[in-house]
Amino acid sequence: MRVHDVLRRKGGEVITVRPEATVRELLGMLSEHRIGALVVSVDGKAVEGIVSERDVVRRLHDRGTEVLDAPVSEIMTSDVSTVGPDELLENLMGLMTVNRFRHVPVVAHGALAGIVSIGDVVKHRMDELQSERDQLVGYISR
Ligand code: AMP
Repeated sequence: MRVHDVLRRKGGEVITVRPEATVRELLGMLSEHRIGALVVSVDGKAVEGIVSERDVVRRLHDRGTEVLDAPVSEIMTSDVSTVGPDELLENLMGLMTVNRFRHVPVVAHGALAGIVSIGDVVKHRMDELQSERDQLVGYISR
């Protein structure tokens, strides 16, 4: 299974936030869309960074509530790990496990083409296991 198999089901839409948006605006977007991370991008294509709820929690602890008025660019991670659509899900899971992050943007031909979260990977894997199970049960009860 590959990354594009996951994207085919969930679609390639990615919610992005501009680097100059405030952390307060970011929180509004995370809450509105019920997601845990946003890709930071000026044009919705190039990946400038990624910012997750964990970044906000850490900075709130370090800097207090004044961080809510700071730009997202101050708290985002700039060194973003991305994958291509043809990457094996196995490798993506390894990337998430080794680096301890739960979101990986997908980049195709230099532009943002989707995002995969650990929740997407778990859902996909569970569906896969269920369909394997159904096939085996069908096979032995023939
Ligand atoms: P997460 O587990 O995705 O909420 O993110 C945990 C930390 O890793 C935060 O500091 C994020 O900014 C960072 N992070 C999340 N996804 C990535 C990624 N694909 N590449 C690099 N850093 C990331």
